[in-house]
Amino acid sequence: MERIAAIILAAGSGRRMGTGIHKQYLTLAGRPMICHTLAAFEESPADDIILVTGAGEEEYCRENIVEKFGFTKVRRIVAGGKERYHSVYEGLKAAAGSDYVLIHDGARPCVTDAVIRAVIDGVRTYGACVAAVPVTDTIKIADADGFAAAGPPRSTLWAVQTPQAFVYEQILNAYREVLNGETRGITDDTMVLEAAAGKKAKLVQGSYENIKVTTPEDLAAAEAFLSRRKRVSGLTRSPDC
Ligand code: C5P
Repeated sequence: MERIAAIILAAGSGRRMGTGIHKQYLTLAGRPMICHTLAAFEESPADDIILVTGAGEEEYCRENIVEKFGFTKVRRIVAGGKERYHSVYEGLKAAAGSDYVLIHDGARPCVTDAVIRAVIDGVRTYGACVAAVPVTDTIKIADADGFAAAGPPRSTLWAVQTPQAFVYEQILNAYREVLNGETRGITDDTMVLEAAAGKKAKLVQGSYENIKVTTPEDLAAAEAFLSRRKRVSGLTRSPDC
């Protein structure tokens, strides 16, 4: 039987939010943001969840998030590292024994079941994939003086989100190799696989609602998306969560 693990990254400091508390614990549509993210994977076909938190927050998360809200798939809570890729590596080591692994930003609480299922289908078919949406803005490259220079044709541009999904051993080995060398410029996991193994990830359909909550404006948008879903579908997740 194949095992699918979801690594949920919640070890960032959230400086751009400008609040005293880490953004993953900010209240969003009545519960901490990280609860929405965990609930999406709890209800998905993933077997195991690895939660990566800030160092020293593991016990707080166990008591106040995982146990309090009754998540049953969270197998390990581990401390992350300085950069996102350090946190991913800690999560990967904790996911030993998995066949496939989904890596997801805890700060994307509006991820849908359809997107999670799309990346699971994608990794089974292509061996590596990432949720993404076509870019709607025109993108320009700035020249050295800050003037808009030519940009790539919009029809070729996709905004990459998470989850990103991989064959477990492949991404673990790729991370091992890349973390021993040049890490500058790494902002997502597909770059690690391509740099280490020359393997490309397939783009699969993400969602425009699957935003990364970074600024107070994002928080308002995420609140609106989640509240509307609750109104439309009734509360399918635990009402306590
Ligand atoms: O910083 P950024 O917005 O790219 O963070 C994306 C996700 O990675 C967030 O969910 C954040 O909590 C997580 N992260 C992490 N460890 C870090 C930095 C970011 O788990 N050192």
